[in-house]
Amino acid sequence: MAHHGTITGLRVLDVRFPTSLSLDGSDAMNPDPDYSAAYVVLTTDRADGVEGHGLTFTIGRGNDVVAVAIEALRPLVVGQPVAAFTEAPGAFWKHLTGDSQLRWIGPEKGVIHLATAAVVNALWDLWAKLEGKPLWKLLTDLSPERIVELVDWRYLTDALTPDRARALLEALEPTRGLREAAMRRDGYPAYTTSAGWLGYSDAKIRRLCREAVAEGFSHFKIKVGADRDDDCRRAAIVREEIGEQRHLMIDANQRWDVGEAIEWTTRLAPWRPLWIEEPTSPDDVFGHAAIAAALAPLGIGVATGEHCQNRVVFKQLMQAQAIAYCQLDACRLGGINEVVAVLLLAAAFGVPVCPHAGGVGLCEYVQHVSIFDYICVSGSLDGRITEYVDHLHEHFVDPCVVRGGRYGTPLAPGTSATMKPTSLADHVYPGGRVWRELAWREG
Ligand SMILES: [Mg+2]
Repeated sequence: MAHHGTITGLRVLDVRFPTSLSLDGSDAMNPDPDYSAAYVVLTTDRADGVEGHGLTFTIGRGNDVVAVAIEALRPLVVGQPVAAFTEAPGAFWKHLTGDSQLRWIGPEKGVIHLATAAVVNALWDLWAKLEGKPLWKLLTDLSPERIVELVDWRYLTDALTPDRARALLEALEPTRGLREAAMRRDGYPAYTTSAGWLGYSDAKIRRLCREAVAEGFSHFKIKVGADRDDDCRRAAIVREEIGEQRHLMIDANQRWDVGEAIEWTTRLAPWRPLWIEEPTSPDDVFGHAAIAAALAPLGIGVATGEHCQNRVVFKQLMQAQAIAYCQLDACRLGGINEVVAVLLLAAAFGVPVCPHAGGVGLCEYVQHVSIFDYICVSGSLDGRITEYVDHLHEHFVDPCVVRGGRYGTPLAPGTSATMKPTSLADHVYPGGRVWRELAWREG
């Protein structure tokens, strides 16, 4: 496994897409997102010229702030041997998150943690490309012991110990091959959010629902939380279009206080949502627990995680029985190492992981995460479905492919999150072609 060579460069790009022009991605809290990536390229002195590409997702303003935070991590990465990460990825993660001065502006949350995610995911991309494997395969080829070593266990052992995590992984190890074959054959189940953005007209919602049903989707998510009557009307439209057998999920994007969340979701109960997503502040563990307890009799589960800042808050959400679905985000957590920590916690607590995706590049990442979860960690598809949004995939060299309502298992080496050079150049903010043209049109 020894990888020679040294990381000699770290390049950061502020990449933004003007998605606010079409209301794609509009929800109750984020009416005008410009999907963006703080994008990292790691270069080495290796003769093969292999690069590691990684990103974290933001929605426009502030992407430059994350880019500056990535710059602050540069001294921890550049000049390091490639093997410092590939031989001891867990120790390297602690090295990245353990700089005492940078830790002060987290710890392990906010801008510095988003920056950590971009760098960590670039390191995983580099490693996977060196191995010639897609990320999920790199992970599933690791022994239970090595998977446990990816995780920073500090703050977790009251809920899950490394020994118990290893036992969970060992129990599934003999049957990994069966599940890998199933993934290669069938892919991983996906749901669509594309029909349900707040800014869309009723006619557009109907059309998108019909298209998604025809494509084979079984689960559909809509945004709620701006206007009660509007939400009821749109939930009724979607339920009518998808029928009684398929599933509807609703997403409030943190719009409500706890009481309001219970009341508003109860109003939507007649259309039988499977889950209410992000009902309130992502930091409010007790609030989520109260909402979960109130809605359980209605058969509605609480889902959250896209803004859950780290493994510690996920631990608390699970300890408090506050979530029925864990929606970890591959770029909000500190990259793949911390994602693995949360997958292990979720498996131990019996909470299905349904990763957050969409934005730009998140679908590319989470397909690997879910496939790894199925093969090695949870061993199950029960209650598990991964978000898919059909936006911006054309900018990736090896984009995810969703067909018949399932993610196809990616085969190209890396994390699938490498963007095309022309897409990067055109969308760099504010000097890229697309932004210069928009500025010219706006005078
Ligand atoms: Mg959401």
